[in-house]
Amino acid sequence: MVSGSQGEFGSVVPVRPIGWRVDGRCPWGHDLGIGGCTTTYSHLYALHESFCEACSVAGRRGAWAEVDVGREQQFTSETAPHNGLVLVAVPPAQLAGLGRIEIRLGRTVLGDIDLCLCRVEQRAVLEQVRVDEQYRRHGFGTVLVAAAHARAPRYQWSTTVVRGEQARAFWAAVSPPFPLGEPHWCTHMHIAAGRTPDGQ
Ligand SMILES: [Zn+2]
Ligand SMILES: [Zn+2]
Repeated sequence: MVSGSQGEFGSVVPVRPIGWRVDGRCPWGHDLGIGGCTTTYSHLYALHESFCEACSVAGRRGAWAEVDVGREQQFTSETAPHNGLVLVAVPPAQLAGLGRIEIRLGRTVLGDIDLCLCRVEQRAVLEQVRVDEQYRRHGFGTVLVAAAHARAPRYQWSTTVVRGEQARAFWAAVSPPFPLGEPHWCTHMHIAAGRTPDGQ
């Protein structure tokens, strides 16, 4: 399966975060320095879209888009444009509480990620990543993880327990630069989540 999803938007091409794992290759593994690459503008995403020429020789469309996940590229619900592919950060209601980043195409939320950040201990925990079923396996989850990480790249990051084949396959594709499965919640996060300070 290499073609885009045929959802309400027609063909949705894969995405990946700028700078997450820069290896000079297309998402299908071709060395772009050898095979060649062209770019065009995607009106659907309101982003540049790249085409791998080696993919095209192999009979594949070979198109993908790179998303700038930096903090300054993340909108609020009030400032988010209503067209294109956009990241929207929804802050937590209280210190170290659960915040959320959504990835939207126009006004449609394709997926979101829940995270807790503590500025006191400089810790961050990824709680849950969700991508709408018809948009999975396109890299939107990786973009969400990278967007979360970009909010505090120097913090100590961890995730909640990774359960089940699907979750393991997801994280294997993301290959994050931090350990999985052992959430290092701090007392502020426990309190914000309604637990006792020691997590009971
Ligand atoms: Zn390719
Ligand atoms: Zn804390």
